[in-house]
Amino acid sequence: MKVIEPHIHMIARTTQDYERMVRMHTVACCEPAFWAGYDRTSSQAFFDYFTHISEFEPTRAAQYQIEHYCWICINPKEADDLVLAREVISFIPEFLHKPTVLGIGEIGLNLNTVNEMTIFQEQVELALKYEQLIWIHTPHLKDKLKGTRMMLDYLKGHGKVNPEKVCFDHCEEHTLKMIVDAGFWAAMTIYPVTKNSPPRVVDALETYGIDHMLVDASGDWGPSDPGTLHDAIFEMKKRGHKEEHMETVFYNNPCYFLGQCKKFRPSPSLPKEKAWAV
Ligand SMILES: [Zn+2]
Repeated sequence: MKVIEPHIHMIARTTQDYERMVRMHTVACCEPAFWAGYDRTSSQAFFDYFTHISEFEPTRAAQYQIEHYCWICINPKEADDLVLAREVISFIPEFLHKPTVLGIGEIGLNLNTVNEMTIFQEQVELALKYEQLIWIHTPHLKDKLKGTRMMLDYLKGHGKVNPEKVCFDHCEEHTLKMIVDAGFWAAMTIYPVTKNSPPRVVDALETYGIDHMLVDASGDWGPSDPGTLHDAIFEMKKRGHKEEHMETVFYNNPCYFLGQCKKFRPSPSLPKEKAWAV
C-alpha cells in the first residue's frame, strides 16, 4: 500500500526521516509554508524560505524516490504584522507557477486576532484570483472551535469559494463535523505527545467516516514523528479495517484532493465514488 504524507515540514527534518518515510512506502509529501521556529525579520527571509521549499527540498526528497510538493503563503503566526504580511503577499504569485507548488497554505488563524483574519481573507482572494487550492491551519493555542467557525462562516458566506478546493487541517472531534457537513475537506494531525494520538484519529474516522478525510503527521521543529502516520495505519489494521479503507484514507483521499491541482502526479487506485462506498 502506497502512502502520501499531506502535511509535513521537511525543512525541519533530517534525511533519516526521508529514509524512514520511503521504507514506510511514502511516495509523496507536501510541505505547507509555516513559521520557521522564530519570527522572520524581513519579507526577504520569506522569499528565501519559499525558494528553499519549492526548489531545494524537492531535490532532497527525490534522492529517496519521494515526490515533494509545497504550499506558499504568509503563515498565521506571522500574519499579525499587516505591513510585513502584505509585502510577502506581493511576491507570492511569483512562486505559484513553480512545478511543485500546489496552492496557498497553510493560511488561517493562530490567536484569532482581527489582523490574522484580515490576512486570511486577503490570501483567500489571492487563491481565487490565481485559481489555487487552499490549505488551512486551524488554531492550536486559543480557541480552536471559535477560530474554525470564524473561517468556516467566512468561506461559506463568501459566494465564490468552492469547498471542494479547500482543506481545513488540525481538526479534532469538535470541529470535524461542521467542516465536512459544509462540503470542505478535513485533515487530522497526529502528534506523538500532545493532541491527536493514532487511536484518537482512528476513533474519529470510525465516527465521521472516511469521505473527505485526510490524516497527516505534521512533522516540524517540535516533538513530532513522520512514523505516527504508520502507527495510525497499524491501529486501523488491528481494529480489522479493510485494506481498501486504509488505502483510501492514506493514499487515495490525498490524491483526490491534491490531484485537483494538475501538478500533483500520484493518481488514485480507485475512483472516489467506489473508494468511499467500500
Ligand atoms: Zn504545519
